[in-house]
This record gives sequence, structure tokens and C-alpha cells, in this order.
Amino acid sequence: MSTSYVGRFAPSPTGPLHAGSLVAAVASYLDARAHGGTWLVRIEDIDEGRSVPGAAAGILKLLHALGMESDREVVWQSRRKALYQAAFDCLAQHAYPCGCNRREIADSRLGLAPDGSAIYPGTCRDGLAPGRTTRSLRLRVPEEGADLIEFTDRFAGLVRQRLAVESGDFVLKRADGYWAYQLAVVVDDAEQGVTDVVRGADLIDSTPRQIYLQRLLGVPTPRYLHVPVVRNAAGEKLSKQTGAVAVEPGDEAGAVAALQDAARFLGLQVEPVASLAGFWQAAVPAWARLLSVREAASLNPPG
Ligand code: GLU
Repeated sequence: MSTSYVGRFAPSPTGPLHAGSLVAAVASYLDARAHGGTWLVRIEDIDEGRSVPGAAAGILKLLHALGMESDREVVWQSRRKALYQAAFDCLAQHAYPCGCNRREIADSRLGLAPDGSAIYPGTCRDGLAPGRTTRSLRLRVPEEGADLIEFTDRFAGLVRQRLAVESGDFVLKRADGYWAYQLAVVVDDAEQGVTDVVRGADLIDSTPRQIYLQRLLGVPTPRYLHVPVVRNAAGEKLSKQTGAVAVEPGDEAGAVAALQDAARFLGLQVEPVASLAGFWQAAVPAWARLLSVREAASLNPPG
């Protein structure tokens, strides 16, 4: 047992929690409890244009109804902009103004990064062309050959990404003036002393960029565990855009049922229980058992 463990759940309040985000919440909570650690909730409302009024309050209320309570005061990214500015100031020597819009980057046809975004061709690396104005601020990644980032995911095992080829120089401050997710998440995880990030596998391709930022900022790299994402019948990741329905448990039996669904998705064997307390009591050791099998497999892949 390590009492220095600090984990977190970091929802973006773009809508109510659905079955997919609940899986990430439950996995991060179980991992923190199984390690005798601290679990934090952080509201990632840095993209104020996409934040839906009332969504954060709804998420916090639901977590409470499910028996998941942040061990420290909930933090809100929209109130922490000075921290992101300070981090950017430290990175300024590695950053440059970029005048390109999405269309221009897509037209360069360098291909798509694993997360679906177009790879930046480096157009403004050596300065803005005459007549162009700054839209975003980008971080310069190392040249090909010196750009490999590797980490061992606690579930997926070794993950390798070549930043120059698979991501390209990435945005730290967006054209709409908001700080980018990649910067905010790294600053917050470091400032909150997060030792363990447990989140959905849709973010695994962002992790190398985050590790690169951690190195430039001189902050520790947490351990990472990416859990599978929940998909709908059409194979799409559950999200507001793909019509995911809100988790609305109603009473305690509904809350237990929602948690049992999330546990089952994670591959946990939790016997039927009637109460929330009973669920958590059974789920924490079940998670610990699952981890010992999964972590051993990820460190010693077959063949
Ligand atoms: N805010 C992100 C989301 O809701 C999660 C970020 C993270 O866990 O690093 O998808």
C-alpha cells in the first residue's frame, strides 16, 4: 500500500456523465482506493465555449450519489488560468506563433495523428510569412530521430510514439484564446501532485505529448493506466455527439446498478449487492485482483 498515491477524475463539463465517462470515474476511484490513496475531482472547463452551464454541478451531484467524493476541494480549470500562463512562460523558448487555420493544415495532407487531428506540417516554424497574423501558439517537438517518447501503460504495456511524425508541433494556446487541453492537464496533474492517471484509452495518444511537456517543465511523469472506451452499437465511442444517454440512477438501487454495469465493463467480478457501501466494499478488492493479472500481463506480454 502506498499512501503517496494521488489519482484524479477530470471530466469536461460538456454534458451529463454517460456510461463511458462513468467507467473512467469508477476505474480511477477504484485504483485510488485499492492503493489507499487520495482521489481528486477536477472540472476541465478550460474550453469555456464547449462547457454547458449546469453540467459540472450535475456531474458532481451524480458522483456524490454514487458514493464518489473528492478527497480535496474540487478544482476548476477556468479559475486556474494564471498557472497555465506561468507554465507557458517557462516554455516560451520552445513555442512559436502560428498563423495557419484548420483548412490549411488539412490541405497539407501530412496525414492524421492517431487522435484524428491533422499533423501540423511546420509551416510557421521559422516565422510567420509576411502579412500573416498569429492565430495559435504551438510547441516545437524534437526533430525526427530524437522524437521518440515511450511509456509503459499499466494495462496496454509499452506505448511508443514519434512526436515529429505522429503528432507534429502541437497547440498550447488556441486560436479562440483558450489554453489547450494538453498544457492545462500537464500543469494541473503536476500542481496537484497526481501520481497516477487512470482514464479512457481515447486519450492514450495524447500521453506522449503530455510526457514531453512534463520533461520540458521539469515535473514528474505520473504512471498511466488507460481503460477501454465504451462504444455504442455502431462501434462509436460514447459521447454527446454519438447520442450517449445520461446516467440517472434515481435511487440507491439504480446507483448500484449503474456501478455494476461500469464494473462489468471493466472486467470485474462483483457479486450482487444491495447497497452502495456493499458495492464499494466488494469492488475495491476485485479491482486489486484484476490489476495484479493485467499489470503482470502488460509487463510480460505473451511471445
Ligand atoms: N477532460 C478529459 C475528458 O473529459 C479527460 C482528461 C484526462 O483525464 O486527462 O475527456
